[in-house]
Amino acid sequence: MRSYRKELWFEAPTRRAFINMTPEVERCLKESGIREGLVLVNAMHITASVFINDNESGLHHDFEIWLERLAPHEPVSQYRHNVGEDNADAHLKRQIMGREVVVAITDGKLDFGPWEQIVYGEFDGRRKKRVLVKIIGE
Ligand code: ZN
Repeated sequence: MRSYRKELWFEAPTRRAFINMTPEVERCLKESGIREGLVLVNAMHITASVFINDNESGLHHDFEIWLERLAPHEPVSQYRHNVGEDNADAHLKRQIMGREVVVAITDGKLDFGPWEQIVYGEFDGRRKKRVLVKIIGE
């Protein structure tokens, strides 16, 4: 069995953002040379997510509205976590949207269903964050 590991860096210029990271994962897969196996992609920070869904701007807007309704950023004083920081809502949003995804690799390609894309969700941006890509197989 072969294995491959890479850290990808993201720096969203805004507090919250959704970034389609599928092309970068595909580049990793090509670099790994692995044709059959599994790829794990996980956010290495507890205020960011990696999830699979449609890479469609209307849906990303809807996620933003929905998450803001569930865990509004303001007022920051409503959260106990916000002692000396203001990102409690980002932790909650990350919990809802998830930490990682696993995708099957078949014949050297990400074996997606229709419209599936890997999306990086940022909830406390304007700083550099890492995403781990781990591929195992042969
Ligand atoms: Zn925090």
